[in-house]
Amino acid sequence: MSAIADVVIIGGGIVGSSIAYHLAERGCAGVLIIEREEKQGLGSTSKSMGGVRAQFATEINIQMSLYAIECFANFEELTGQTADYRAHGYLFCATTAAHLNYLKENQAKQRAFGLKDAEMVSREEIVKMVPQLIADDIIGGAYCPTDGFVDPHGVLTGFAKRAKERGVRIWLNTEVTGISVENGEVTGVKTTNGEVSTRNVVNAAGPWAAGIAQMAGVELPVTPLRRQIVKTQRCDFLPAKFPMVIDMSTGFHFRREGEAILMAWPDDEETYGFKTAFTHDFLEKILTHAINRVPQFVDLPVNPKQCWAGMYEVSPDHHAIIGAAPGVKGLFFANGFSGHGVMHSPATGRITADLILGQPSFVDPAPLRVERFAEGRLLEETAVL
Ligand SMILES: Cc1cc2nc3c(=O)[nH]c(=O)nc-3n(C[C@H](O)[C@H](O)[C@H](O)COP(=O)(O)OP(=O)(O)OC[C@H]3O[C@@H](n4cnc5c(N)ncnc54)[C@H](O)[C@@H]3O)c2cc1C
Repeated sequence: MSAIADVVIIGGGIVGSSIAYHLAERGCAGVLIIEREEKQGLGSTSKSMGGVRAQFATEINIQMSLYAIECFANFEELTGQTADYRAHGYLFCATTAAHLNYLKENQAKQRAFGLKDAEMVSREEIVKMVPQLIADDIIGGAYCPTDGFVDPHGVLTGFAKRAKERGVRIWLNTEVTGISVENGEVTGVKTTNGEVSTRNVVNAAGPWAAGIAQMAGVELPVTPLRRQIVKTQRCDFLPAKFPMVIDMSTGFHFRREGEAILMAWPDDEETYGFKTAFTHDFLEKILTHAINRVPQFVDLPVNPKQCWAGMYEVSPDHHAIIGAAPGVKGLFFANGFSGHGVMHSPATGRITADLILGQPSFVDPAPLRVERFAEGRLLEETAVL
């Protein structure tokens, strides 16, 4: 063995960095992050839209988001780096009674689990926030002013920088090629830079997580799914500050980023697989939805070279998978965020660090165990974007 670590984290994205930070803050500094790229954050983290919201449908997602929002609001104090948290809100717009009821039911759950700021809003209130919307068919919506956006790279940098200051090591340009398991216990990892002896390994490999789990002989139901983002040229006709707008009739959503507008839409014709190319096909489809909701988008130029695609790491119930791997002592999962890994990175770091250190966490993480799929205890999250 050429190196020793108390904990090896496979993947130096936002999730791996948050886990390292939370371990180090709890006094566990013998942590080694292994990242195969030359820089951190080149996986899904750099592709994120940076959205943060607590308007979810399940207790665990709501609580993880509340933890995140507090963390992002105090990020500079915690890490010395700004998260650029902008509390511009998320605005869900309903065009059917079923959708409006769904928002109302979710809001009751959100209130019960500690989110006090979300409110139901009328069409008139929606139009006041974004006057450019075609709103004839909108019958109301839900708005939460503490939802908003962060800079994913800033968050990753803050976590990683503070972790390093606390003694965490990071190996870049190093690929994990195997996990050594003896008598059902992790003993080390094999890498392109030699072997590392360790008793604890965390899988924080984003869309590549299933392959990492397989190295230890464990099945992990995480599948990559391409998501594409359109970035427009300078947009002057929309307000300088407005919430993330979600058109529930199509799933189309958009927000401001500086001078530009970012647009996203869940294309139900997309198929699973490791795909990261941005396509013209998608651009045509999303612009149809965009123009139907905001006709002025028809004149807003888009340079496809500034658009991008990345991968969601999807679990069967669109919830994170966090916890010990069954049958392999010392292997932990922090995977399957299904498009919420940036906003749930702070809570995931805290929960995973607490699990490794055998401490209680701020929330009971048991519902997130991978065993839920075999046991039929799925946590269906329907408020997926
Ligand atoms: C288009 C798009 C928009 C999104 N928008 C949002 C949003 O608005 N809000 C939100 O919360 N989330 C969003 N997400 C999801 C979010 O980006 C991810 O959930 C999050 O970045 C996952 O972070 P991660 O650290 O787990 O994975 P990653 O950032 O992918 O990091 C995993 C790392 O593991 C490394 N790795 C893999 N295999 C190995 C190996 N064998 N050896 C060493 N290293 C390895 C990779 O190189 C990578 O750097 C979006 C995702 C996409 C694609």
